[in-house]
Amino acid sequence: MFFRALQKTSFVIPIYCFDPRQFANTDLDFPKTGSFRAKFLIESVADLKQSLQKLGSNLLIRIGKPEEIIPEIQKNTGAKIVYASKETTAEEIKIEQDLENQLFKAGCNLNLYWQSTLYHLDDLPFPIKMLPDIYTDFRKEIERGTKIRSQFPCPVASQIYFPNIEIALGNLPIMSELGLKEQIQDERSVLTFKGGETEAKTRLKEYFWEKDLLRNYKNTRNGLVGADYSSKFSAWLALGCISPRYIYDQVKKYEQTRVKNDSTYWLIFELLWRDYFRFVAKKYGNALFQQEGIRRQKQLLKEDKKMFERWKNGQTGQAFIDANMRELLYTGFMSNRGRQNVASYLVKDLKINWLWGASWFESQLIDYDVCSNWGNWNYIAGVGNDPRENRYFNSLSQAQKYDPKGAYTNLWLKTTSNLSY
Ligand SMILES: Cc1cc2nc3c(=O)[nH]c(=O)nc-3n(C[C@H](O)[C@H](O)[C@H](O)COP(=O)(O)OP(=O)(O)OC[C@H]3O[C@@H](n4cnc5c(N)ncnc54)[C@H](O)[C@@H]3O)c2cc1C
Repeated sequence: MFFRALQKTSFVIPIYCFDPRQFANTDLDFPKTGSFRAKFLIESVADLKQSLQKLGSNLLIRIGKPEEIIPEIQKNTGAKIVYASKETTAEEIKIEQDLENQLFKAGCNLNLYWQSTLYHLDDLPFPIKMLPDIYTDFRKEIERGTKIRSQFPCPVASQIYFPNIEIALGNLPIMSELGLKEQIQDERSVLTFKGGETEAKTRLKEYFWEKDLLRNYKNTRNGLVGADYSSKFSAWLALGCISPRYIYDQVKKYEQTRVKNDSTYWLIFELLWRDYFRFVAKKYGNALFQQEGIRRQKQLLKEDKKMFERWKNGQTGQAFIDANMRELLYTGFMSNRGRQNVASYLVKDLKINWLWGASWFESQLIDYDVCSNWGNWNYIAGVGNDPRENRYFNSLSQAQKYDPKGAYTNLWLKTTSNLSY
């Protein structure tokens, strides 16, 4: 969208709004965005500001509702067009509409651009209403010849002018302004996640080129401990610090210069899951957030607050589940294997409303992505895109298979954290 704006004019005023609604408490009494992701977000915006400054531009930073802040800035600057990314889910779409209405009154257009996926929405070989309900069918249709668009070129300094305007730039918020506490880094974290494009590219360089881990990704991706078993790109992808097309191009380069094998294919296969859940959200709208899910299947689930708290805090008494839930609580991250197990345990063993689990993930995950989170929860809860009826993760046999020596479970259950709550 920045590229599109620069095609029209060199005078662009980049803006980022920290929307207070994103940090407010949910009905379950925890913040919608918890400390881990908030910190990552602040770091990402700081990195973006620096990159823009290097190009001679800058970034306006505000805390407030975009549909109020942006029309105000438009009024003060006389901007003719507002460019933003096109979002997929209800809360964001409502903001887009409110913003558009406000801008319209001032004679200003809102131009929205589809971003974030590897395959562009407009290039799908079917209308979104005909999106296959089974991932494999979707993947096969896509792989039959849908093209991935090229990346946009990075802007250069001579293309951008930050208008000479009398308007405060605004500062990055500190955590307490968002109503959150700083967390101390837990030394057992898989990675020291730091937000921003710079860090995202450093991580890719390390994972692909320095440690050469991509060649074995398919065999290691179900791991539980440490930085190396999977890419850990998710947090940067979720905020748009790195694009799936950049990763795709790097995989292609790796295949040409190092090796092309099942693992290099599998990373793209997983990125395609990410696309798939975004398209599923577009197809099904609000059903994604309702207990009956996109399949509209009624379930008898409890709303047992005590049991939910035990699950959330890693105190169910089931070691493998508790280890995973503590990793999430203390670090904001959990492996894919862990997520599948704890989600299944909440719904299929404890029979607790899966919407609560998905909300806790939303609060806690550093890589929270609205479509991937709620899409995966639909899937595991048995109301989503899983073609298998009644899929169940037996946490005891899963622990034996994926943590045979108990290294992971011991790591999280032996000691406590210095987390400040
Ligand atoms: C209940 C549940 C909730 C989840 N919530 C989220 C979420 O909020 N945000 C999120 O990014 N992922 C979510 N996932 C998917 C997956 O667990 C994470 O993407 C993955 O663990 C991130 O680690 P990684 O980057 O090292 O993944 P890698 O294994 O290195 O995979 C590369 C990339 O592929 C994508 N990907 C991999 N698996 C999936 C998947 N199952 N669904 C969608 N995309 C995938 C991610 O973008 C990931 O970064 C969830 C999975 C489950 C079961």
